[in-house]
Amino acid sequence: MKKMACRKKVGIIGGGASGMAAAITAARLGAEVTILERNDRIGKKILVTGNGKCNLGNYHLTPSEYYGENPAFIEKALQRFNTEDTIAFFNSMGLLIKERNGYLYPACEQAAVVLDVLRYELQALGVTVITECKINSVAKDGKTGKIVVSDGVKQYHYDAVVLACGSKAAPKTGSDGSGYKLAKQLGHHIVPTVPALVQLKCREDYFKAVAGVRADAVIKIYDKGKCVAKERGELQLTEYGISGIPVFQISRVANYILRDNSEVLAEINFLSDMSEDTYKKFCEERRRTQKGRTAEEFFTGMLHKKIMALFLKMAGIKGNIPISEAEEEKMQQVFALCKKFRVHINGSNPYDNAQVCAGGVDTMELTEDMESCKMPGVFLAGELLDVDGKCGGYNLQWAWSSGTLAGRAAASGDIKG
Ligand SMILES: Cc1cc2nc3c(=O)[nH]c(=O)nc-3n(C[C@H](O)[C@H](O)[C@H](O)COP(=O)(O)OP(=O)(O)OC[C@H]3O[C@@H](n4cnc5c(N)ncnc54)[C@H](O)[C@@H]3O)c2cc1C
Repeated sequence: MKKMACRKKVGIIGGGASGMAAAITAARLGAEVTILERNDRIGKKILVTGNGKCNLGNYHLTPSEYYGENPAFIEKALQRFNTEDTIAFFNSMGLLIKERNGYLYPACEQAAVVLDVLRYELQALGVTVITECKINSVAKDGKTGKIVVSDGVKQYHYDAVVLACGSKAAPKTGSDGSGYKLAKQLGHHIVPTVPALVQLKCREDYFKAVAGVRADAVIKIYDKGKCVAKERGELQLTEYGISGIPVFQISRVANYILRDNSEVLAEINFLSDMSEDTYKKFCEERRRTQKGRTAEEFFTGMLHKKIMALFLKMAGIKGNIPISEAEEEKMQQVFALCKKFRVHINGSNPYDNAQVCAGGVDTMELTEDMESCKMPGVFLAGELLDVDGKCGGYNLQWAWSSGTLAGRAAASGDIKG
């Protein structure tokens, strides 16, 4: 009688981007794969990415786009599964990809289609998907060597398990931080987490007056007098503080400082392309040619009306006085505010509003195959780890890279028991 070849059983906890990448990779290598997902469907977070368009990667992939306490680990993983691999992975499932300034999107610009191709591939590979199954324990069976996971009702036994539960960011999509609890059960250390790629709140009470303003600006964050983060892009002023891509990018730095301090100083430069000298000449020229103007009229044309009105008020210049009567010192103060507008960040929006989470499972405790050094046979992937990227497709790239490496390694090796 012909003996049936035994297939390695791999359990994937979490059906997000990294879990699906792990499942597809493991199944393609011949493993019998099951995804255990707490939601009633897999891939909920993918649907909200890139404003529904899913920025799934970036041609300008370098380790410097990522944060985490172990940069060498991140670099190695990205070398082993890079942007070209992501494109090939999606092309192999029939998804056409387009590029805009290095940012990768599905050609159809629909995140739902990205999820569809992943789901169809899982189906074609015979991956079992069990939904509404929230795993709350993971352990090794001392006798069989199998990894046993449980939702408190049922136990599941696998030769290898991939923890791909995500972080605490956007918990409505399913990632409620329970992955950290599972990793702790294995003995892992969690690098403290903070919301990242999130809006920041400011102490100043004038934000209501400038809410809705969008402006190109450079924003810097200071810690103990030293600039620790700097970004340029479209800044948005809101009723409670600041938002927009440059704010998202620096939010993790601000939030880590806020763990030990009640406030963080941010400096915004609305005129980063204008030197002090050019400003002086600009003012002199205008003073000569626009003598009859009021202060408000004089300053019209430089920045958004609402910002200029605020800066005139802060400098103590009444909008209706003739510009010839404005003191030079106050004029310079307006310029100083345009170049160095200081605001005090005293919080951020919560995890509900954050796109990702900074911090997570300490990657010093993983092999380069994403295997737990605390419990071999368990692999960890995605945002659950202490790896977070900037805006631009880098977080999904991390999910595809780490998920693929984990799935590949989980599918190879011995069958237990
Ligand atoms: C609004 C928004 C927009 C974004 N846009 C982009 C973008 O355009 N480009 C980009 O690169 N990144 C973007 N991101 C970030 C990116 O989506 C995430 O980094 C990525 O999806 C993380 O994948 P993951 O598999 O690690 O986790 P998740 O996608 O969060 O998946 C984790 C899965 O595990 C399940 N789960 C959790 N705990 C358990 C448990 N105990 N048992 C069973 N199942 C469990 C969850 O329900 C979830 O399905 C965005 C994020 C948000 C919130």
